Amino acid sequence: TAHEVTCRPVHGPDGRMAMLVFRDVSDLEQASEMRRDFVANVSHELRTPLTALMGFIETLRGPARDDAAARERFLGIMEAEAARMNRLVTDLLSLNRVESEERLRPSDPVDLGAVAGSTLKSLEPLAQDAGVELRLTAPKEPVVVPGDADQLRQVLTNLVENAIKYGGSGGEVTVTVEPSDRDPAVRGPAARIEVADKGPGIAPHHLPRLTERFYRADNHRSRQLGGTGLGLAIVKHIVNRHRGRLLARSRPGEGAVFTVILPR
Ligand code: ADP
Repeated sequence: TAHEVTCRPVHGPDGRMAMLVFRDVSDLEQASEMRRDFVANVSHELRTPLTALMGFIETLRGPARDDAAARERFLGIMEAEAARMNRLVTDLLSLNRVESEERLRPSDPVDLGAVAGSTLKSLEPLAQDAGVELRLTAPKEPVVVPGDADQLRQVLTNLVENAIKYGGSGGEVTVTVEPSDRDPAVRGPAARIEVADKGPGIAPHHLPRLTERFYRADNHRSRQLGGTGLGLAIVKHIVNRHRGRLLARSRPGEGAVFTVILPR
């Protein structure tokens, strides 16, 4: 543990004495170390596309000035790098918002089946491009939880996008919405949303760290696919805000399953 020591003058019966005050500051130190790491990570993540952009601007001014084909190709890469920066900033702002709201529990009635249905519909083009089939299993009657519809849509979007991205082409992603009267994970009535893919899965030692900001199980693949490394951190905070639980399980080679359990 770390201690902060301060010295205070006090008036004792025989005059002035000094009092040393020890305060345990381990938590504070840990928090400020995490903040420093975070700032270093964000700077690094932003600098990578920025360096590429600056390099291409230089090339367009110089060697590629009169080469129309090269110019077109470089502009395409620059567009992709700018889009990456944009995604990163968007994710940072979402994370910031949900983190600052974490104490306030949202309470609008949200029908999870309807949210899942509309989310899958909007991700259909992405799935088609990746050659992935999306399936939804939900009961006919609404499965309603108190929550924030936009944020729960974000949870589903991030999980399903990951399942499409990492699940491998030709695969299948299944989303299941299921109510239960008593779920041991939240000790009461709950609803479960399960997102399962049939991709390569995740090695067990990565599982506990996936929701850390910028943690990537497969760094190369995440970057290649344009991942920011913040998707699951955002999911985790939104689930916390709903007083729910997020579980991940995977058998390497047999796909990954992410389960969100929300109290009803
Ligand atoms: P990213 O933007 O990199 O996708 P996330 O926070 O959404 O960041 O996910 C963290 C990491 O977890 C990913 O980089 C990836 O390595 C791993 N991951 C997430 N979902 C899956 C999945 N369905 N199958 C395999 N790996 C996954």
